[in-house]
Amino acid sequence: MVTSNFDYFAPTTLDEATSLLSRYRGEAKVLAGGHSLIPMMKLRLAEPTVLVDIGKIDGLSYVREDGDGVAIGSMTTYRELETSSLVKSRYPLLADAASKVADLQVRNRGTIGGSLAHSDPAGDLPAVVLAIGGSVVARTRRSSREISIDRFQVDLLTTALHDNEIITEIKLPALPSGTGTAYSKFHNPASHYAITGVAAVITVSGGTCTEARIAVTGAGDKATRARRTERILKGKELTPAVIRRAASRAAAEVQDTLNDDIFASAEYRTHLTQVHAQRAIEEAAAAAG
Ligand SMILES: Cc1cc2nc3c(=O)[nH]c(=O)nc-3n(C[C@H](O)[C@H](O)[C@H](O)COP(=O)(O)OP(=O)(O)OC[C@H]3O[C@@H](n4cnc5c(N)ncnc54)[C@H](O)[C@@H]3O)c2cc1C
Repeated sequence: MVTSNFDYFAPTTLDEATSLLSRYRGEAKVLAGGHSLIPMMKLRLAEPTVLVDIGKIDGLSYVREDGDGVAIGSMTTYRELETSSLVKSRYPLLADAASKVADLQVRNRGTIGGSLAHSDPAGDLPAVVLAIGGSVVARTRRSSREISIDRFQVDLLTTALHDNEIITEIKLPALPSGTGTAYSKFHNPASHYAITGVAAVITVSGGTCTEARIAVTGAGDKATRARRTERILKGKELTPAVIRRAASRAAAEVQDTLNDDIFASAEYRTHLTQVHAQRAIEEAAAAAG
């Protein structure tokens, strides 16, 4: 399978890249790791006439402290995330989820910015970043804005990003002490995409759950907060019964868009979502102490 024809640009500065996106607005696509865009182009599901490869721009690949939180450059690869000591110590679920993406070849090329911008319904990092919270920094030729991760994933393969914007950074907040995190997924054995994955970030204080962010991927059309599950957890002691009840509601938010395909029926995905929600919450609660 071959792509349709396109012009290829490899700018070396963000100004050049954003200018190209403005000049070819609506026709151009950003190329990062290429592990989602190129297959889509080969299948003719995407036919951009211009590719703006941002891989030659310096300074988009980093993980660093940013005030109380951490900032991650959009071109940071899965491999860099899974091996970063800062990510491992501050957001263990992000390092763990990155290590579970596909194989080493994909992890060496695929980027956090590409994963969020692509918003694959079975992608791992959209759910993980959603559970952590924070924001996505997007730049045009003239301006820059921060988009809350809660408003970023809009629909199937659709985000709040405009077609002249480039994600430059992902900002993650500091997690309060007493916070535990976990990511649990049932993966497709060939691609490792999540048939269902659940990310949990849970804060416990004085024996009670004071904060919970739970996000589900793979089950529905996009990464989604399981808000009913969160509500059941908050303000409670995380006994096995409470965790079981909360997990049983994890598929509720994706009920209307449940995927039903050759990999798993909607009914099986509902079951998997509960199972992996329970595992992720138990693990995060144990880590929270
Ligand atoms: C065999 C295989 C197995 C895979 N398994 C998994 C898996 O288990 N879990 C998983 O989550 N993913 C998996 N993937 C997908 C992989 O994670 C991709 O790398 C990821 O979805 C996209 O990242 P990328 O850097 O490759 O982006 P690209 O493919 O280059 O781009 C994807 C989309 O995002 C846009 N984009 C990219 N970067 C930016 C930016 N900085 N600003 C604005 N727009 C941008 C592009 O224009 C394009 O629309 C797999 C892919 C393959 C080929």
